[in-house]
Amino acid sequence: MPGLDERPIPLATYRHQPDSYDCPFCLVQRGVFTEHNQLGDVVAVTELAFACISPQWWPANPGAALVVPRGHHENIYDFPAAAGHAVWDLVQQVALAMRTTYVCEGISIRQHNEPAGDQDVWHLHVHVFPRHRGDGLYERHNKARWVASEERAGYADVLASQLNLQRTFGVERPAHIFAVPGDSAGDSAGRAGWLVRGSSRPMASTSECPRRAAR
Ligand SMILES: [Zn+2]
Repeated sequence: MPGLDERPIPLATYRHQPDSYDCPFCLVQRGVFTEHNQLGDVVAVTELAFACISPQWWPANPGAALVVPRGHHENIYDFPAAAGHAVWDLVQQVALAMRTTYVCEGISIRQHNEPAGDQDVWHLHVHVFPRHRGDGLYERHNKARWVASEERAGYADVLASQLNLQRTFGVERPAHIFAVPGDSAGDSAGRAGWLVRGSSRPMASTSECPRRAAR
């Protein structure tokens, strides 16, 4: 029958992570940041999961978030139940916080496995999207753009204050800030320190999805 294969296949066949993979979701938990993954993006940390503003946004869905298990699991096939429950619980909290604080009309959730399933980070993660009538999220799958950290930060602060959960991973200080030309890792970490966000940060302008006014 088309689409069916009853031969058992070892789970290793479904793994695509390179041997020397620097997992961005594991690194950020150890205080190792890049332009695409910064402490200021994190909106909630629980025992087994965390949530952050996504570094990539689709054209009409700014402020999209990711919910990620704390442990490194590549995909859904052998994902432990306890971590799965924790991720789902946080997905629900983020969706509700988004629906409460963003000007949006719905929420969509997506999770990708393997290259054919559009997975491109080899640590399981769930996308949480604010939705609007006619936003074309699925039709514009190839139209995502990288978003500057300053633009992400306003949405992160709004979601974090609504969630009111822990927002750090409990490490004393970053192990390494992303490379700055001419700086040693130590100098860079010492100068930048923790990227603690204040709630007064101005929102970057996004014309298609203004956040709901603070109440
Ligand atoms: Zn990882």
